[in-house]
Amino acid sequence: MKSGCESLEVKKQRSIQLPVLKQQPPAQESAIRKSRTSRWRAAALIILYLLMIAHIIQWKMMGTTISPIEPSESMYTLQEGAINAGFIFFTLAILATLIFGRFVCGWGCHIVALQDFCAWVLKKVGLVPKPFRSRLLVFVPLIAALYMFAWPTVYRFFSNPEGEPLIPQFTNHLVTSNFWGTFPSVAVAIPFLFICGFMTVYFLGQKGFCTYACPYGGFFSIADKFAPGKIRVTDACNQCGHCTATCTSNVLVHAEVKQFGMVVDPGCMKCMDCISVCPNDALYFGFGKPTIAIPKSDAVEKNYSLTWSEEIVAAVVFLASFLAVRGVYQLVPFLMALGCATITTFLTLKTWRLIRARELSFYHFNVKSSGRIQKAGWGFLSFAVVWIGLNAHSGWVRYHEYEGDRAFQRIQIPDELALAQTNPDPWLTPIDRENIVNGKTHFQGASNFGLFLNSEALSKLAWFEYLSGDAERAVQSLEQAAAHQKGQAKALSLYYRGTMLNRLGRYEQARTSLDEALTERPDLVLAREEKGESLWQLGRKAEAVSVWSDAVQQNGRLVLANNQLAGAAASLGRFQEAIVHEKQADQFTPDNPHYHWMIGLRLQNLRMNELAEKHFQRAIQLDPGFQVRRKGRFQ
Ligand code: SF4
Ligand code: SF4
Repeated sequence: MKSGCESLEVKKQRSIQLPVLKQQPPAQESAIRKSRTSRWRAAALIILYLLMIAHIIQWKMMGTTISPIEPSESMYTLQEGAINAGFIFFTLAILATLIFGRFVCGWGCHIVALQDFCAWVLKKVGLVPKPFRSRLLVFVPLIAALYMFAWPTVYRFFSNPEGEPLIPQFTNHLVTSNFWGTFPSVAVAIPFLFICGFMTVYFLGQKGFCTYACPYGGFFSIADKFAPGKIRVTDACNQCGHCTATCTSNVLVHAEVKQFGMVVDPGCMKCMDCISVCPNDALYFGFGKPTIAIPKSDAVEKNYSLTWSEEIVAAVVFLASFLAVRGVYQLVPFLMALGCATITTFLTLKTWRLIRARELSFYHFNVKSSGRIQKAGWGFLSFAVVWIGLNAHSGWVRYHEYEGDRAFQRIQIPDELALAQTNPDPWLTPIDRENIVNGKTHFQGASNFGLFLNSEALSKLAWFEYLSGDAERAVQSLEQAAAHQKGQAKALSLYYRGTMLNRLGRYEQARTSLDEALTERPDLVLAREEKGESLWQLGRKAEAVSVWSDAVQQNGRLVLANNQLAGAAASLGRFQEAIVHEKQADQFTPDNPHYHWMIGLRLQNLRMNELAEKHFQRAIQLDPGFQVRRKGRFQ
């Protein structure tokens, strides 16, 4: 008989080894039935992927679609009140789990599908993923879930100004035209799926990502403990262990059903493989007592991959790695950072063992023998050093970003005042000067020695360059940053670039940059004010007035745009109109000397001198020191 023709029903999958249980059962080596339900589950997960693809195609073809059916979207419901399809799905999934257990994970999660596919591929090449068991890291999913879904509300509770509601007002976001808006780019999604779907399986076991990283699993695990729906056992069980050997969620099925009459491990994803392979048909899915009713002291004792001191090291390495890679280069999203951190933790501990142990193996590779590192060991070590090195480098970049950000936050000069003239030097305080030097050093470090272009660091570096009087360089940095940004971040970089170009007198380039900013974010009224200035300076006065009018239509309280319209009307001899705009502007002008001076400078740039003088005088009235600066620096 050809090997491919042997019976699929009864086929030896792997010898039954139960190294995870402290008291070994009298396990016998015998043929394990192939699971019949695994095919149904594979079909369900393939259909899931097809539906996801169909969703994207429908959006591409029609321009609008149902918002992403992703649990992560619930964050926007809790933070912004946006009711979306992801929130509804996640709520229903948790409710279903409260009754039936984690069926949604096993039968409806695309990451589980990816992990199962990866495990299937590895098995095809003779590598059976082995579980990595940690006592402390299993808490990561719950902590991550609380951080994602509970922390924003807690934060609002303590930081919201009085009178602001804790729960934001709900709005309907069930349909969207920006389907991909909250997802990473395809260039990030591919390594994301590779790391979270494949590498976690190879290093941590078939459900490595679910066990140590998935934040949704954190909530599903808790809900599962309350669920009356469980894998349960009859008296027919003879403790053969086939169920445990088959379970890809590393549940000690035979031991749990012996002790409790049911599977209590919240990692059980109700794949039903154990039911299918049980030679005595002793298992079934049924309703009864939930896990929460079982005394904790009765829990089945397990063996773990780590000693307690290693557990602590693992927790520290995990946290450090997570902080190092999360958001680095604005590329690594939250879930991917969790996946990366689990892999870094595993590699660090395994490398440590490789250095210390005399004998060590990994899968069927002999990595160290009689104290000598073998070929496979050098391969493993090289990979680990590169991976850990990349993590450390990311940490170094993040450190510079963090310090640069601190300096950025401490800058005191208001943006509008700094941007009112080409060189804001006269307005800088000693604290500003110190922070500019620090911030520049750190952001230069983060941008110049990063492995990828760091658009956020670059745009903040541009601000420090501008404040230190190098507007030309700042314009270049912002151009580079904007080329790698999208949405709001891109719009802001282009707006600041356009503003700086206006101050440099390069009005045509400024207008183009501001137009691009408005294409990204049409609601960016500040860009309209600046665009009006470019057009006015280019002699296209009617267009300038039209753009300022648009800005005022979007926001009637805009002080600068109303002043610009007043100045424009006066210069065109439309005095009544000028008075109306001036009055409107005055209503909302803060009585702050800096603000009046800024308005004065902006109007002076446009040669609206009479109006400019009014604001200069008011600033001097409020703070006589402005007179000195005006005479010494600007005239
Ligand atoms: S439940 Fe079935 S497969 Fe599991 S130990 Fe008992 S007899 Fe064996
Ligand atoms: S215990 Fe059974 S149903 Fe649960 S994950 Fe393991 S094999 Fe699947």
